[in-house]
Amino acid sequence: MDNISSLYLSKFGFLEKHVDLTSYTGFRTKSYASAMFIPSGVEGLCFLIRNKSDFECITTIGAGYNLLIRDGGIKGLTMSLGNNFGKISFRRSENFTDIDVGASVKSCEFASECQKQGLSGAEFLSVIPGTIGGALYMNAGCFGAEISQIVLNVHLVTDEGKTYTISADDIKYGYRSSSIPSDWIIVGATFRCTSSSIESVSHTVKKLREKKLSTQPTCGLSCGSVFKNPTRHCAWKIIDELGFRGASLGGAKVSEKHSNFLVNTGKAKASDIEQLGEKIRKEAASRLGIHLEWEIQRLGEF
Ligand SMILES: Cc1cc2nc3c(=O)[nH]c(=O)nc-3n(C[C@H](O)[C@H](O)[C@H](O)COP(=O)(O)OP(=O)(O)OC[C@H]3O[C@@H](n4cnc5c(N)ncnc54)[C@H](O)[C@@H]3O)c2cc1C
Repeated sequence: MDNISSLYLSKFGFLEKHVDLTSYTGFRTKSYASAMFIPSGVEGLCFLIRNKSDFECITTIGAGYNLLIRDGGIKGLTMSLGNNFGKISFRRSENFTDIDVGASVKSCEFASECQKQGLSGAEFLSVIPGTIGGALYMNAGCFGAEISQIVLNVHLVTDEGKTYTISADDIKYGYRSSSIPSDWIIVGATFRCTSSSIESVSHTVKKLREKKLSTQPTCGLSCGSVFKNPTRHCAWKIIDELGFRGASLGGAKVSEKHSNFLVNTGKAKASDIEQLGEKIRKEAASRLGIHLEWEIQRLGEF
C-alpha cells in the first residue's frame, strides 16, 4: 500500500485505511476494512491492481445487500466502485434498445430509466436492492426473471489489471451464481431490452412491487433471502417446519414476515447472524436430511 504515492492516488482514486464498514452492508453489523480503494475510473482500477504488491487479495463489494462481513473485518484491500461507474446510456434500434450500464448503478435506478423509456425486460430489477455489479455476480432475479436473461456483454477488469469484455453466452449462470471469477471486477455491462410502452412497463413494475411488499420485509436490517431454495423445496417452508420463525440468537432474529430472512434487531454482531444461520442449517440436515446452502456471501475474518 505504501508504495503507491498520494500523487497517483489523487489521479487514480481514493485510498483509505481502517474503514468502518457498518454502512456498507444491509445488515449494518460493525466491522472494518484494513484498506479501501475507490477508483476514479477503469484506468485507476487497472493501475491499482497492477501496483498492488502489498496486498494479498482484493475483495470487491457493491451495495452490500447480499453480504455478511464477519466481525474481524476484511484484510487486504476492499474495492468499492463508489459512484464513479454510474453512467447509463441507451442505443436505440426499432424493436430493441441496447443499454450500457456502469457497475455501480443501482439496479432499481436502471429499471427506472428503462421504465421512463418504455423498455421492457428489466422490470424485476426495480425490486432488487443493490448495484448492477452485485446483481451480475449473483445472477440476481425474482418472480421467474434473472439478470442473465437480459445481459449481452459484461465488462471486467481481470486480476492482472487488464480490461476484458466477455459475452454473456460465455458466462455460466446458475441459480444466484455466475462463473465470473471472484477476483475479477465487473465495471459495467451491456443489456438488451425490448420496445414496449411506459404504461405497460409501469403496470408490471407496480404488480411486482405489490407482490414483493406483501411477502417480504422491505424495511429493517437484512440482506434478503439467506439460503437458496434447495431443489424441489422452499427454504422458508423448511425453516418454518423446523420452528425457527421468530427465533433469535444475540441480536439476530428470523423474520416473522419471511422466515428465510435473518434480521439485525439493532445490536447484532455478524457472528450472531452467522451462528443463527448455521443452527438452522444443522437442524435442516439432521432432522430433515436437507442441505441448505447460504445465498448470502460471507466475507472476512472471524
Ligand atoms: C430486502 C431485500 C430483498 C432482496 N431481494 C432479492 C431478490 O428478490 N432477488 C435477488 O436475487 N436478490 C435479492 N436480494 C439480495 C441482493 O439485493 C442482491 O443479491 C443484489 O444483487 C446484491 O447487489 P449488491 O450491489 O448489494 O452486491 P453485494 O452484496 O455488495 O455483493 C454481492 C456479491 O457480488 C460481488 N460483487 C459486488 N459488486 C461486484 C463487482 N462490481 N464486481 C465483481 N463482484 C462484485 C461481491 O463480492 C459479493 O460476492 C435482496 C436483498 C434485500 C436486502
